[in-house]
Amino acid sequence: EPDPLVRPEPRPEDADRALRPQTLGAFIGQAEARANLRVFIESARRRGEAMDHTLFHGPPGLGKTTLAQIVARELGVNFRMTSGPVLAKAGDLAAILTNLEPRDVLFIDEIHRLNPVVEEVLYPALEDFELDLVIGEGPAARTVRIELQPFTLVGATTRLGLLTTPLRDRFGIPIRLQFYTEDELFEIVTRGARLLGIAAEDQGAREIAKRARGTPRIAGRLLRRVVDFALVEGDGVLTQDLADSALTRLGVDHLGLDGADRRYLGLIAEHYQGGPVGVETLSAALSESRDAIEEVIEPFLLQQGLIQRTPRGRMLTQGAWSHMGLSAPSGPDQ
Ligand code: ADP
Repeated sequence: EPDPLVRPEPRPEDADRALRPQTLGAFIGQAEARANLRVFIESARRRGEAMDHTLFHGPPGLGKTTLAQIVARELGVNFRMTSGPVLAKAGDLAAILTNLEPRDVLFIDEIHRLNPVVEEVLYPALEDFELDLVIGEGPAARTVRIELQPFTLVGATTRLGLLTTPLRDRFGIPIRLQFYTEDELFEIVTRGARLLGIAAEDQGAREIAKRARGTPRIAGRLLRRVVDFALVEGDGVLTQDLADSALTRLGVDHLGLDGADRRYLGLIAEHYQGGPVGVETLSAALSESRDAIEEVIEPFLLQQGLIQRTPRGRMLTQGAWSHMGLSAPSGPDQ
């Protein structure tokens, strides 16, 4: 079973808005994305027009939804939210689009999972703010054209490669979100501790930042758990010792890897001599979906330089062997 604590997918307790930044100014990290967004938002405001359609892509928990909400707030318009899998029929999309007010932001999460029929209906809506709907069936069917208010679609995806080219081409503003640096996560944890009303020593906050897998959602979640330990087993102050022992008890190692990450690395080391091994094989052996492996586990391991993707499959790097305290076998592949 994957360790739910350090998985970057949303969980119910994340719905707690306490830690979500509300303005671009309060949003930490992603400096380039923020600077660009500031210009596009300001320009749209001055022109009095809807901002161009925007696509956020990158691993889960990096702030795609948060930025989409901030964009709407800074534009001074409504924020409507749905997701690819929820929009099952063209009519579902039509109902949302026809209810938008001028320049509103419509956020579609997991946009790579849109039904192709719904996607077809979306194209003219994005390009000309028009909706072509088929009314009735068989010989009596006819198409009606509905004018829409100009709006901004903000799409989010963890899998840019799964977006169809025509859909991708309709986003004037594509933005890739990056893993956060330790310093940025330190700021996020420090701010979070302040918002939660907990005293945090710098070294305590830094310990969480180091082990948050480059991901604000995980930083927030680890912070809450460490705060539990600080209140119940400590004197209420978040110190480095306390963070270290709490995180170790929660199965988060010094690089921020969790049980699923370690199982992944361990499998390649022990059963495939460090690889290369194909993702389908890993998926079967780990009982993890291929999507979870490619969207959740691998991006951080790649970013940390622990694995490499080669045409023949995944391979451990020297760093992974040292992290596991093992020595790499010497052989033709190494
Ligand atoms: P995504 O949509 O990419 O999965 P979210 O926008 O839902 O990620 O962000 C996940 C969590 O991380 C949210 O609860 C939010 O409070 C927090 N978060 C994201 N980005 C930041 C940031 N730059 N500063 C502080 N908290 C952040």
